[in-house]
Amino acid sequence: MFDTFFLFLAGWILLGFLVMVALLFVKAPYGRHLKTKGWGTLVNARWSWILMEIPALLTFPLIVLCSNTSLSVFHGVFLTLWGLHYVNRSLVYPFRMRSTGKPIPISIPLFALIFNLANGFFLGYEMVSFHALSYPLEWLYSPTSILGIMVFLIGFVVNLDADRRLRNLRKPGETGYKIPQGGLYRWVSCPNYLGEIMEWTGFALLLCNLSALSFMVWTIANLLPRALAHHRWYREKFKTYPSERRALIPFFL
Ligand code: NDP
Repeated sequence: MFDTFFLFLAGWILLGFLVMVALLFVKAPYGRHLKTKGWGTLVNARWSWILMEIPALLTFPLIVLCSNTSLSVFHGVFLTLWGLHYVNRSLVYPFRMRSTGKPIPISIPLFALIFNLANGFFLGYEMVSFHALSYPLEWLYSPTSILGIMVFLIGFVVNLDADRRLRNLRKPGETGYKIPQGGLYRWVSCPNYLGEIMEWTGFALLLCNLSALSFMVWTIANLLPRALAHHRWYREKFKTYPSERRALIPFFL
């Protein structure tokens, strides 16, 4: 069982790398890169966000909470971080979106649903099957865990702030794009993605297991190519786009 699970997980991580390479050439067709043909029927974006993210909110915690694992403060900490992110992403973010009526091709929420279910399953299964007893309370006070929690929380704040700045760019009824300003937008085009990647890097540091590492790889696989595509798009669209701004990592990328 041990071998089969980790074989699947290794395959899943490999798939994440392949998806990253593919996304460098094919832009995920939603938002500014929306394609109306070839990606399935168009559906409501707000409901898609809710329906594709709620399974992530539930899967991992349910597997842990319904297992025989004796829960410790450590479980409470990582489930709280998980809940913090996914309550926002599945139940708060979609209702705060400025609804411009722009739809999303159904293939995007379907891929996201599979991604969320698979990640939730891998995280939950690895936790209850192989690590139920291997996270003593002292783990929580280790330098890696403390660093992981800090990176996660800073990433969460960066992501929230960046999403809020984007939301406030449009007045009610507006549909166009503007140059985002303030916060980490001073240095990068996509601080929302930077924050999200920091969150799951911090989470991987906290859990120090393969499924958390795989989740981090998949997040980078989705968001790094999209950040590069957004950045190119901004530079082509706005002649006055700040030249010092990078795509994802200040002064570097
Ligand atoms: P985008 O930055 O593409 O868009 C976010 C929202 O802001 C959309 O409503 C968009 O409108 C609007 N917007 C973006 N740029 C501008 C602008 N310059 N002017 C006006 N409005 C703008 O983000 P995503 O939709 O890709 O992602 C949303 C959140 O979900 C992010 O926080 C991201 O981190 C997270 N996410 C996480 C993933 C993961 O793998 N963990 C994968 C994908 C997203 P419009 O729709 O019209 O473009």
